[in-house]
Amino acid sequence: MKIFDSHCHLAADEFDLDRAAVLDRAHEAGVDTFIAIGSGYGIAGNARTVEFAATDPRVFATVGVHPHEAKELDDEARRLLEELIGRPRVVAVGECGLDYHYMNSEREVQRAVFAEQAASARSRRMPATIHVRGDEPNAYEELLDIWRTETRGEIEGVLHCYTGTLEFARRAIEAGFYISFSGILTFKNDRGLREVAKALPLERLMVETDAPLLAPQGFRGKRNEPAHVGVVGEILAALHALPIEEVARATSENARSLFRLADA
Ligand SMILES: [Zn+2]
Ligand SMILES: [Zn+2]
Repeated sequence: MKIFDSHCHLAADEFDLDRAAVLDRAHEAGVDTFIAIGSGYGIAGNARTVEFAATDPRVFATVGVHPHEAKELDDEARRLLEELIGRPRVVAVGECGLDYHYMNSEREVQRAVFAEQAASARSRRMPATIHVRGDEPNAYEELLDIWRTETRGEIEGVLHCYTGTLEFARRAIEAGFYISFSGILTFKNDRGLREVAKALPLERLMVETDAPLLAPQGFRGKRNEPAHVGVVGEILAALHALPIEEVARATSENARSLFRLADA
């Protein structure tokens, strides 16, 4: 079985001591392709991610500004990102979006930076990997509004580590998004997420680890790594009453299509 980790932070410090061993374990578990996310560990993490992707043919990179880091985006950072995004093996903008749960950057700053990222993805005809969280105010509705305005339906994206409602997921799919599930899908207290995953069409779904965060049930409290993405796939397979191989194949195909890996 081959399976695809559509969202992991391979350049994070947590992997500095054993990155090669982490990838070996993933390989043994059938994980053959990785989307290494540039943002989320400081804006400088984008450069480390792009450099790492250049060293391993299984790894593709994204470049962007995480909503937590929105307040750090200045002209110097903009110049760095502009340069990085044109490098080989960079396949998407992100992760970018809105996080009103933690509100680590002010709402207006998050909105402005997300709009800028979405516009940049559109101008480059690149897909985007999106982080969205928070109901009060409603990050999901604001995100969809900004996305529609800035991308005009011309590009697609993925809502990573999805934990929203079924109703919103359906509208997001109509707006050109894929939905990606993480280890949260495996938690005993999944807050209804398994029902959401069960009701959505497999043609629009992906699986991810978001490693080093969000280790699945059975590994909670530990560092997460891409070798565990199959645990998420297993749950999705059970929900859709399909063999794991079928879910692995479909979610990998979806990721290859969104990130256009045939021509990467
Ligand atoms: Zn995220
Ligand atoms: Zn992430």
